[in-house]
Amino acid sequence: MADISLSRVWKRFGSVEVIRDVSLDVGSGELVVFLGPSGSGKTTLLRMIAGLESIDEGALTIDGVRCETLHPGKRNVAMVFQNYALYPHMTVAENMAFGLRNVGVPSSVIRERIDEAARMLEMEALLQRKPAQLSGGQRQRVAIGRAIVKEPKAFLFDEPLSNLDAALRARTRVELAELHQRLKSTMIYVTHDQVEAMTLADRIVILNDCRIEQIGSPMEVYSRPASRFVAGFVGSPA
Ligand code: ADP
Repeated sequence: MADISLSRVWKRFGSVEVIRDVSLDVGSGELVVFLGPSGSGKTTLLRMIAGLESIDEGALTIDGVRCETLHPGKRNVAMVFQNYALYPHMTVAENMAFGLRNVGVPSSVIRERIDEAARMLEMEALLQRKPAQLSGGQRQRVAIGRAIVKEPKAFLFDEPLSNLDAALRARTRVELAELHQRLKSTMIYVTHDQVEAMTLADRIVILNDCRIEQIGSPMEVYSRPASRFVAGFVGSPA
């Protein structure tokens, strides 16, 4: 069953089309990567699923519920931002608790979920620190932890590794793959990095010029690229 479904979705900023007629089904538990060059519409598409951008035309269904106009807080998805978006004046634990407290989750449940996520991400020692006292990699962990405690239907990652150095990027990529195995939750992951896409994805959605060029497994898009653009972008043999 599709967890997230987009049907003939369009989006314009003013007179500029940024998403053109996109249709896509993301299956339950699937890890789908949106891959494409800068400006191809990946982030806008993700933000539309999160409810942070409106949809001009078309339908969006999450877990069977039509939600083009549903408030972001009611969509049961958790977004992890490129710049982490942590509250600087709160501790790590408070950052993780904030979204849950707002929707009335009891304190004891919040504490349990924070402890469990902190164990999973090996960040127990960071819980009482403020974001300014953390490295970039540690901040990224907190951002992921904050998404995990929401127990969302789907995780939406917007270039989560792009601010990390190469070694940390490679390590975090492996950890994200492990996390996906462990949580078995639906994930959509935006990147312009072919290696990240090839190593993480169950399926890759290749975007170019605001529309989908191809959808397929990493092996399919590499060995049977649908266009010259895809072949060039994923480095298929000529
Ligand atoms: P990507 O994530 O693939 O780099 P984006 O989704 O960020 O692409 O952007 C797609 C297009 O939409 C780009 O041309 C970008 O300049 C434009 N765009 C994105 N956000 C806005 C906005 N808030 N207002 C106007 N144009 C925007």
